[in-house]
Amino acid sequence: MFSKILIANRGEIALRILRACKELGISTVAVHSTADANAMHVRLADESVCIGPPAARDSYLNIPQILAACEITGADAVHPGYGFLSENARFAEILEAHNIVFIGPTSDHIKIMGDKIQAKQTAKDLGIPVVPGSDGAVTPADDAHAIAAKIGYPVLVKAASGGGGRGMKVAKTEADLDNAMSTARSEAKAAFGDDALYMEKYLGKPRHIEIQVLGDGKGNAVHLGERDCSLQRRHQKVLEEAPSPCLNTEQREKIGEIVANAMRKLKYRGVGTVEFLYENGEFFFIEMNTRLQVEHPVTEMITGIDLVNEQIRIAAGGSLEMTQEDIRFEGHAIECRINAEDPRTFMPSPGTITYYHPPGGLGVRVDSGVYQGYKIPPYYDSLIGKLIVHGRNRVECLMRLRRCLDEFVVDEIKCTIPLFRDLVDNQDIANGQYDIHWLENYLAEAPES
Ligand code: ADP
Repeated sequence: MFSKILIANRGEIALRILRACKELGISTVAVHSTADANAMHVRLADESVCIGPPAARDSYLNIPQILAACEITGADAVHPGYGFLSENARFAEILEAHNIVFIGPTSDHIKIMGDKIQAKQTAKDLGIPVVPGSDGAVTPADDAHAIAAKIGYPVLVKAASGGGGRGMKVAKTEADLDNAMSTARSEAKAAFGDDALYMEKYLGKPRHIEIQVLGDGKGNAVHLGERDCSLQRRHQKVLEEAPSPCLNTEQREKIGEIVANAMRKLKYRGVGTVEFLYENGEFFFIEMNTRLQVEHPVTEMITGIDLVNEQIRIAAGGSLEMTQEDIRFEGHAIECRINAEDPRTFMPSPGTITYYHPPGGLGVRVDSGVYQGYKIPPYYDSLIGKLIVHGRNRVECLMRLRRCLDEFVVDEIKCTIPLFRDLVDNQDIANGQYDIHWLENYLAEAPES
């Protein structure tokens, strides 16, 4: 087992990882920018190293500085969290070259899944159902119109290196295609430095359902069920739940086994998430994330499995200690992402938290690094915490969530708690009837409470 882990991240996830390390008896190193010197994970870590000024490219994305922090502190492994360097294959390789363990999959697997065209081909070869679309990239030399006509309109033009919903454009009819291609190409070039595009059938009313997997890199892998992340705004997840209100045990086992088998064949190591769109009873692969997800706690709440603990154990060479039959799904869990944003306009609202009171009680988990007097820096994403609630069934979970949202106080900044208070009282949410467009339609129509 490792003796010292460096946590190359910030905010709630840095604290989440730190907690897992402490429970395993592993020393922790926090790295931070000058803007995060007072962050909770920095205060609680055994050691901390300032790695640069506020801008992420000079600190949390600064590989030489992070490497230097490893050398100075003698850390033998790095946990990258999510975002930042978590899906950077070069970072994984550099650490390896310095005999420091990257807590994550092999750099080859990161590379394959980081290129969406390659990822889709790999998924297909492994027996995972994919969205119908172009065979690989659509280059300027290709006849895009012929390809789109074959797929059938509407089509979605996507960037091979895409992420965060960027470089994605819908062409409803043939008349939109040239424009969609050229805007997606320039957006992709600007955001990712790679303008490779591909095309997919645009699904009208799908749900976003993803399967959590865990593998040990030796050919053993299990699935930990699904998360329904259909409540999105601008392709960003807002609320996640498990199990999905629209799947039954048989459907879950079927898709879960397809994915777990694929991971066994791939000899995948660590945690990963295979994302699907789900429409009319069918699953369509869209991408795989080779890291821990923001919404991982909902899976932990229904399985009782600590995913970060498993990541660390496996990175240290451990084998999977559970079989698929050992995994039991108990009750229902929902996560609300608390962002420091206006709950309607979603404009960021950084500032100082003058009063903070998180909810508590049975089945309640708050993952957050904030505290009374904490100053939210304006330089990073606006996620300040996550409220995760568990109940014996979905109804109990929603009742508990409503109670928790009433208790939760985060003053004087604006945050998304009022939006969730409205959502728990909505009939469609109570019925579990929503697709990936539901939230945007709701926000466009609903009166402000
Ligand atoms: P990114 O990596 O940019 O987040 P994804 O491929 O994961 O891109 O897709 C993000 C979101 O975009 C999905 O959750 C879904 O809402 C929407 N989306 C992606 N592909 C399709 C598709 N073929 N049809 C309809 N919506 C899609």
